Amino acid sequence: MNELNLKGKVAVITGGAGIICSTMARSLAAQGVKTVILDLNKEAAVSVAVEIEKEFKTSSIGVSASVLDKASLEAARKEIHDNFGPIDILINGAGGNSPAATTKVEKMECTEDEKLEDTFFGLQIEGFDKVFDLNFKGTLLPSMVFATDMVKKKSGVIINISSMNSYRPLTKIAAYSAAKAAVNNFTQWLAVHFSKTGIRVNAIAPGFLLTNQNRFLLIDEKTGELTARGNKIIKGTPMERYCVPEELTGTLIYLVSDLSKFVTGIVIPVDGGFSAYSGV
Ligand code: NAD
Repeated sequence: MNELNLKGKVAVITGGAGIICSTMARSLAAQGVKTVILDLNKEAAVSVAVEIEKEFKTSSIGVSASVLDKASLEAARKEIHDNFGPIDILINGAGGNSPAATTKVEKMECTEDEKLEDTFFGLQIEGFDKVFDLNFKGTLLPSMVFATDMVKKKSGVIINISSMNSYRPLTKIAAYSAAKAAVNNFTQWLAVHFSKTGIRVNAIAPGFLLTNQNRFLLIDEKTGELTARGNKIIKGTPMERYCVPEELTGTLIYLVSDLSKFVTGIVIPVDGGFSAYSGV
């Protein structure tokens, strides 16, 4: 018996054109999974799919949809059915932070010259909504649309992409932290709700990678060096380096395959020890 039981399965990867999820898609294709690269950016999604087909000789398509727009997800599902048939695996990878939902300072000092707009009071509610929606509703809606196939087949796997922020919030990024905490909570909720349907729901909480969404916080635009915050992350990570996307794929394959048949409702940190370390 093939203990992974992945060959020929159909996986939808939202945010599939991004740094982490395009690597995840490649790792699935390497196991013979047919991949759907679903992204807002159609051109980038198609380009990842073309590369995957060339590299792994496994079918892949790029599909344009927004994880915040149910009608576009339903249209995507039809396109996927026409190409590959019903969906077995969903990776909810679209997500990220925004400068509009990020405070300028870590802590309020209450000094005379402190500008309130640099603190909690300067957070823009539109930015807060945007980040919360993308990370939380952007996990909820694709699950609602794509798990209908899994319920019919009485089998399927959903993987949500969480973050270290979900356990303990990082300074400055209130909306992103709250949204990822909600993703963990929802992972548990949906796992229980689906526990008798044959669908398993789990999450991966990556440590810190240098990607488009956090570059503005971790790399100094002018010098190209790590910012003070970037250095703090390295100090807080016992392995003393950033994660690379390929280091998430072992956990992904474990969670999507039959290796984890009795595993549902968990969040696995892949973080170089960050969540275990008190800093002392
Ligand atoms: P990325 O910015 O490289 O990729 C995100 C992708 O999502 C992009 O291709 C973008 O076009 C797409 N996208 C954005 N809005 C969308 C929408 N409404 N509908 C469909 N697609 C949309 O991001 P990444 O760093 O690879 O992050 C992937 C996931 O990993 C995110 O959920 C992120 O929060 C999480 N994560 C990242 C880190 C990190 O350090 N980079 C750490 C932990 C968790």
